[in-house]
Amino acid sequence: MAKKAKKKAAVKSAAARPAAKKTAAKRTSAKSGKSGKFVYLFGKKTDGNGTMKPLLGGKGANLAEMCRIGLPVPPGFTITTEVCTYYYDHKRSYPSPLQGQMKAGVAAIEKQTGKKFGDLKNPLLVSVRSGARDSMPGMMDTILNLGLNDQTVEALAKKTNNPRFAWDCYRRFVQMYGDVVLGVQKRPDEDHEPFETVIETLKHERYHKDFEDTKLTVEDLKELVVRFKALVKDRVGKNFPASPWDQLMGAVGAVFGSWMNDRAIVYRRKYNIPTEWGTAVNVQAMVYGNTGDQSGSGVAFTRNPANGNKEFYGEFLINAQGEDVVAGVRTPEPVADLKKHLPKAYQELERIRQTLERHFKDVQDFEFTIEDGVVYMLQTRNGKRTAMAALKFSMDMCKEKLIDWKTAVMRNPADQLEQLLAPVFDAGEVAKATAIATGLPAGPGAASGRIYLNADRAVTAADKGEKVLLVRVETSPEDLRGMIAAEGILTARGGVSSHAALVARQMGKVCVCGAAAVEVNYHARTVTVDGQKFNEGDWMSIDGTAGKVFAGQVKTAPSEIVAGLLDGDEGAKKTEKFKSFQQLMKWCDQATRMSVRTNADTPEQTQNAIAFGAVGIGLCRTEHMFFEGNRIDAMREMILAETLEARKAALAKLLPYQREDFAGIFRALKGYPATIRFLDPPLHEFLPHTPELQQDLAKKLGVTAQQIHLRVEQLHEFNPMLGFRGCRLGIGYPEISEMQARAVFEAAALVQKEGIKVKPEIMIPLVGFKRELDLQIEVVHKAAREVQAEQKVKLNYLVGTMIEIPRGALTADEIAQSAEFFSFGTNDLTQTGLGMSRDDSGSFLPAYTELEIVKNNPFATIDQTGVGQLVDIAVTKGRQTRPDIKLGICGEHGGDPSSIHFFEKVGLDYVSCSPYRVPVARLAAAQARLSSK
Ligand code: PEP
Ligand code: MG
Repeated sequence: MAKKAKKKAAVKSAAARPAAKKTAAKRTSAKSGKSGKFVYLFGKKTDGNGTMKPLLGGKGANLAEMCRIGLPVPPGFTITTEVCTYYYDHKRSYPSPLQGQMKAGVAAIEKQTGKKFGDLKNPLLVSVRSGARDSMPGMMDTILNLGLNDQTVEALAKKTNNPRFAWDCYRRFVQMYGDVVLGVQKRPDEDHEPFETVIETLKHERYHKDFEDTKLTVEDLKELVVRFKALVKDRVGKNFPASPWDQLMGAVGAVFGSWMNDRAIVYRRKYNIPTEWGTAVNVQAMVYGNTGDQSGSGVAFTRNPANGNKEFYGEFLINAQGEDVVAGVRTPEPVADLKKHLPKAYQELERIRQTLERHFKDVQDFEFTIEDGVVYMLQTRNGKRTAMAALKFSMDMCKEKLIDWKTAVMRNPADQLEQLLAPVFDAGEVAKATAIATGLPAGPGAASGRIYLNADRAVTAADKGEKVLLVRVETSPEDLRGMIAAEGILTARGGVSSHAALVARQMGKVCVCGAAAVEVNYHARTVTVDGQKFNEGDWMSIDGTAGKVFAGQVKTAPSEIVAGLLDGDEGAKKTEKFKSFQQLMKWCDQATRMSVRTNADTPEQTQNAIAFGAVGIGLCRTEHMFFEGNRIDAMREMILAETLEARKAALAKLLPYQREDFAGIFRALKGYPATIRFLDPPLHEFLPHTPELQQDLAKKLGVTAQQIHLRVEQLHEFNPMLGFRGCRLGIGYPEISEMQARAVFEAAALVQKEGIKVKPEIMIPLVGFKRELDLQIEVVHKAAREVQAEQKVKLNYLVGTMIEIPRGALTADEIAQSAEFFSFGTNDLTQTGLGMSRDDSGSFLPAYTELEIVKNNPFATIDQTGVGQLVDIAVTKGRQTRPDIKLGICGEHGGDPSSIHFFEKVGLDYVSCSPYRVPVARLAAAQARLSSK
């Protein structure tokens, strides 16, 4: 129906719009810097610890924690998130004690390392990195090798006796600093980063070919520094800063500035990270992974974050700095291969892997650098994981007694659970299809789509309703919007911890990365694999579980969980995925207080929902039944009828259809209750609106097209959502409610006689006055009495109402005198509470989200402070009158995890949602209960 159609589009476009920087900046708290301590040391002396994430950010807090448990961490300090808040509250300036505290911080690093910042003998270089409370991979900025200039580079070369290393650091520093701090970045008409273009040009000028950066000579690197500086001068109009201290202050400002960059804002919006949190900045002594072949950098997970297997997972590059690994420029080697290259370092990493899990009791994602054979830890955090991996981690860690079952429930993100129900490729179809390339299985699942090679074009195509695969050589944070829009992501370069893999995993996108056979030509907008050419818009399919790429569209099959639960597939039931899912759901039932029902209008939907664990129907929208087959004709005849007799005659045709539908639903429910809502939408929604359709109907009904046209005109309303709908229909035409009540009770009698328990709960929509409900209740009871007498049965039923307009909520104490239950229609309650049309909000809500007037789409996630109050008032008042009144919610919010947490808090008895959301709601309800205790 029209009133549901636009919701998804509104949510989507809200995430895809650019940012409103000023407003967001203004809102940051004014209470910053209460303690006066802005700098926290870590190293030999460590001020912070792992619990201080709000103040030190995730990275800073965990660096401190790692120091505390004796892991090898280069010394440094963290500038707190309070400084970020201050920075935005005070026109991008710093609290006055900051510089002094930073100087003391640098002095502490100097003392521990024996090096000096800006020194001409043994210069200290530092990294400057962002670190928000929740990790935001690749979203903000990092600067390495800070402290280098034309003099210190020579000192470093001399001290290390390794000029190549020193100049490599210098060219990296100028490149990163130029990009991040000075803003020398890709222009809209460029496909490559300008610094990379300079490197490529030099390689071609001097060697006439492309090759790895590690093969650049000292002379090449020196020349690159000169050219990079010229590029900076050309684009920015300023010289590259030479003073280490100026460099440091510039870098700190850039990190704070990156909190408000577009991609960070898009990311925060997608993951609901409040702007007020701010980011911390970590300044840390550099350790070098690029000193030669006894050095390297890597990222690793203590277990496999794609499929959950208990194996050391990750990758490294020899003779490289950390950014090389994530940037996907060189394809790294799997961490297991480190055993061959540097066996001692590998052993040390294995030890660290185990220490981390024992200490943090969760899977860790960590960064390390090996400098001349010695391992250093640069970061650890809870690893982002796919839903599949989250499920396996939680089961395995519970078996290993690292966590208890309640923690295991909490470890499965409810909003990711749907990934487990997503289709996989049909085994038969895959056998027929030929894989054209293989890559790394970075994000499990199956995806088919038309290929697009650029994020903007991918977004445009997806907005038009196309299924899209984003294909890139490698992705970078600018591609985020394209990745959100795509079904799946395919990259030619990059490993399992490349940007593409990381982000895909978190979003639950299907991803194959590092498929080297895939040649991407951005200019021609083509992809060539083994001589076979694909143009933008052609179909490809990727299997992110197996890491395979197929030409064309490959058919998908239901996931093992769906196959096991809904189709009774015995093979599927034996899979680990199925069994783990069932175990999780069992634990949810153990933990939960609220139950989960479903919104279903057919026996099939009902059956599916029950298989997913629903314990009844929370909303059966009876009007949906009038659209099938010939029923719509009888319905239209009823609406067009000019007299009571004519209307009753049409209703009599509808009665048997409804009875059959209800009987089917009662059978499918096997004794669970069914909340059946009487006719609700404005009648014009059922009528034909084009002349052709009106002509057709006229023929069928034996009237003139003109008559139909007139009646349609008569029924036209200016505000149909606030017009003749809901209980107003049943009050205006009691015979409609009479027919519906009779259909319910006749079906109930029929099914009860078959030996199946039946519990109908008749629900009157859009009630604002107790009297409205009373009038309808009378009709219902009368029909019940008649049917029970006719059928000689005793039926158990309830009559209640939806609370979906503010007056209903505010007078819930009166309404509860008559209503035996309330079900919150939060779609209409949001619409009427906010005075925002649910059909038309798509035109202004994206701007509202962008301007942060609303944090989320209020039609998807309940507006707790406003609409939530109405729910809360109605709950309190309803219970005052009728302490045992049954309370549920059946609006779209019933399947939304964060809204479910709110419903737990106000004490509803159940939530109701669409069948495929039932597992999500069960998990969210259990988590809400566990976290409320
Ligand atoms: C509601 O308003 O929340 C509701 C469930 O009813 P409908 O969406 O059918 O108006
Ligand atoms: Mg409603």
